[in-house]
Amino acid sequence: MPQPRKILVLNAGHGGPDPGAVGPSGLKEVEVNEAVCNYVSHYIPPLLSVVQAQQTKTAKKGGLREVVDSSNSLNPAIFISVHCNSSINKNAQGLQVYYANSPTSARLARLVFTEIADILENETKWSKLASASYYVLKHSTARAAILIELDFISNLAIEKLMRTKSWQQDAAKAIIEGIRLHTGMW
Ligand SMILES: [Zn+2]
Repeated sequence: MPQPRKILVLNAGHGGPDPGAVGPSGLKEVEVNEAVCNYVSHYIPPLLSVVQAQQTKTAKKGGLREVVDSSNSLNPAIFISVHCNSSINKNAQGLQVYYANSPTSARLARLVFTEIADILENETKWSKLASASYYVLKHSTARAAILIELDFISNLAIEKLMRTKSWQQDAAKAIIEGIRLHTGMW
């Protein structure tokens, strides 16, 4: 019997009527989150089954519960929620990665953080790598669950980068490389 394939659940943060943060020139966070998740799905080797879970309901909590329930029902090895950060400080920039309260989640977060920081060159004084009790992390039963804040969409220069295919693809490739190192599957 072949082993059942490992499942990766990707959650592009926000969706439905909720655009997430909006950049100074109007770029919606959800568009960036979706683009990056689509590139991850596209470029990841078919060794992992990739399922995208996105909120569709109006109620914020209801939407997140929907995401977590559909993810947990798949018993995934990995759950990754992709977001862009926002701050009233227009200078804020840099990567942040948060993880669920487990050593496996912390390990995946560290690997993904390192790869993104390397490729996007965005480790700054605003960067964070920490455990957090965000709803989707707290309630995920995936063996490793992380939430990535790729960078600050509220920063005009970063927003401009986030619009580009090359930045979106680089972010996706870095996430894939982190997953590769974590799973050792290819
Ligand atoms: Zn977000």
